[in-house]
Amino acid sequence: MIPATFDYVRPASVDDAVRALADAGEDAKVLAGGQSLMPLLRMRLAYPDALIDLDRLDGLREIRDAGDAVVIGAMATHHQVIGDPLVREHLPLMARATETVADPAVRHRGTFCGSLAHADPAGDLPAVALALDAVLLARSVRGEREIPAAEFFVDWMTSALEPDELLVGVRVPKLGAGWGVHYEKFHRTAQAWAIVGVACAVRRSGDTVEDARVALTNMGPVPVRASGVEDAVRGRAATREAFQAAAGHAAEGTEPPTDLHGSAEYRTHLASVLTARALSAAADV
Ligand SMILES: Cc1cc2nc3c(=O)[nH]c(=O)nc-3n(C[C@H](O)[C@H](O)[C@H](O)COP(=O)(O)OP(=O)(O)OC[C@H]3O[C@@H](n4cnc5c(N)ncnc54)[C@H](O)[C@@H]3O)c2cc1C
Repeated sequence: MIPATFDYVRPASVDDAVRALADAGEDAKVLAGGQSLMPLLRMRLAYPDALIDLDRLDGLREIRDAGDAVVIGAMATHHQVIGDPLVREHLPLMARATETVADPAVRHRGTFCGSLAHADPAGDLPAVALALDAVLLARSVRGEREIPAAEFFVDWMTSALEPDELLVGVRVPKLGAGWGVHYEKFHRTAQAWAIVGVACAVRRSGDTVEDARVALTNMGPVPVRASGVEDAVRGRAATREAFQAAAGHAAEGTEPPTDLHGSAEYRTHLASVLTARALSAAADV
């Protein structure tokens, strides 16, 4: 399987990269880790006129402390995210979910931002970005733009990025003290994509849930925040029974697909079961 021909650009700076994107027009693609894009090129499901390779932009590999948030550079790999002390301390949900992504080879090349830009509904990390209220940082020759995760995923494999916009990083607010987290992923085999996944964070005060964040993977064309579940647990007892009852709201407002791995009805059932498990694990009850 040989990709169609394309112009190859390997810019040395972010400014050069956004200029190259602008010059290339609508049919250019950005290449980050290549773990999703290369298979599409080889199968000719994507055939851009130009490929803008970010590999030389070492400044984008940084994961840095930004006070009340952590900024993940666009070229920070899954492997980096998993091992990064800032992520492990302040964003353990991100580390936990990223550990379930693919295998070590993919995690050494694939990037957190590439996963978000790819906007695959079966990808694990869009739901994490949504649960953590991440803000995506885009740049083009027209300037900079911040896009909340809640507005970034617009349809099946479609993000709010304009064709001339480069994602330079993601700002993820630190969760703060008192939060427990869990990512519950149901997949056919280890290293496979999620049939359904649940990203969950719970803050307890004694036996009561003070706050909760729940977002679902692969329950529709875009990741979904399970706000019905969040409302049902806030201010209530942190018990398995209460979580099971609240998890009944998990599939509200979702459009689960039917595919080879499961029907929409099966996914609806899974969303409820996995949400109850994720809440219990995050709240440690
Ligand atoms: C065998 C295998 C198993 C996998 N299993 C899982 C899994 O279980 N869970 C999971 O979540 N993912 C999985 N993945 C996907 C993996 O996480 C990829 O790393 C990720 O989807 C894309 O990251 P990337 O850096 O490789 O992006 P690329 O493949 O380089 O790019 C993907 C898309 O995003 C765009 N893009 C990338 N970076 C930018 C940027 N900075 N600005 C603008 N656009 C950009 C590209 O143009 C392209 O359209 C798997 C991949 C493989 C090959």
